[in-house]
Amino acid sequence: MSRIMPMRGRVEVTGVDIHFGRGDARFKAVSEVSFSVPAGQFLCLLGPSGCGKSTVLGALAGHIRPSAGSLTLDAQPIEGPAPERGLVFQHHTLFPWKSVIDNVAFGLKMQGISRSERTARARELIELVGLKGFERHYPVQLSGGMQQRVEIARVLINQPRVLLMDEPFGALDAQTRQLMQQLLLDVWARVGTTIVFVTHDIDEALFLGDRILVMGARPGRLIDDIPVRFARPRDRTLTTTVSFNALKRHCQDLLHPDHAGAARPRLSPLDTDADFSVAHFAI
Ligand code: ADP
Ligand code: MG
Repeated sequence: MSRIMPMRGRVEVTGVDIHFGRGDARFKAVSEVSFSVPAGQFLCLLGPSGCGKSTVLGALAGHIRPSAGSLTLDAQPIEGPAPERGLVFQHHTLFPWKSVIDNVAFGLKMQGISRSERTARARELIELVGLKGFERHYPVQLSGGMQQRVEIARVLINQPRVLLMDEPFGALDAQTRQLMQQLLLDVWARVGTTIVFVTHDIDEALFLGDRILVMGARPGRLIDDIPVRFARPRDRTLTTTVSFNALKRHCQDLLHPDHAGAARPRLSPLDTDADFSVAHFAI
């Protein structure tokens, strides 16, 4: 029997304000953010750099306390970090002196689970993220994409009710990044956990999400809530469809409002390299 158990939590964020700094330096980084994430939804939080995405995710992780409002998982207040809310960052947090299997099994060791059970569950997750055969490798022997697979496996082994991902593929080259997006969708199709995925990349949000919450800056706040109804399973051909590009245009207008509307040159599918400067501007 598979040990990969679906765990899907419901997230509620209500009227959250977050301030940083003291005295004259005090500022509001996040203002009146409210949203709920139904169990099993893949939610993307999209916005420009510095708008407060990581701050909201940090509050969901329990690392940052809001100055107003509340955050709950399955109606329980979020009061600190917990394995039921698994966090994956852009930067690696693997133990360099531990093998892949010991990195993945580490969370279970902390829970006092027997070695044989730990090993069996870790092997299953390593296979799920496509790293079968690399169990005895050390992080330094793996590529950046492979290390991120280990990160995902070591978080999933705790059977989190929500997976919190902060630009997890941001440091990878474009091709590896696309492979990792596809892998994440395949993994999610198996485990079905709720996901809150932070990105500033419109294509990534559209390719992955069931829904996109768009944030604006100064102060960080929600400016749109976009359902993304593309059929699943998804593959790269989606990104060249008319409906994908229509939603992409909508997101671009939200993220770059000064470029929006009639003043902006329109791209047609017939634009050529001769129009590169125009294309570059519109993208
Ligand atoms: P994003 O993830 O969208 O790029 P962040 O959530 O990291 O944005 O940051 C939002 C704003 O809050 C930025 O202006 C950032 O400089 C500021 N900020 C983030 N963390 C801290 C902190 N610990 N102390 C002070 N300011 C912070
Ligand atoms: Mg960030």
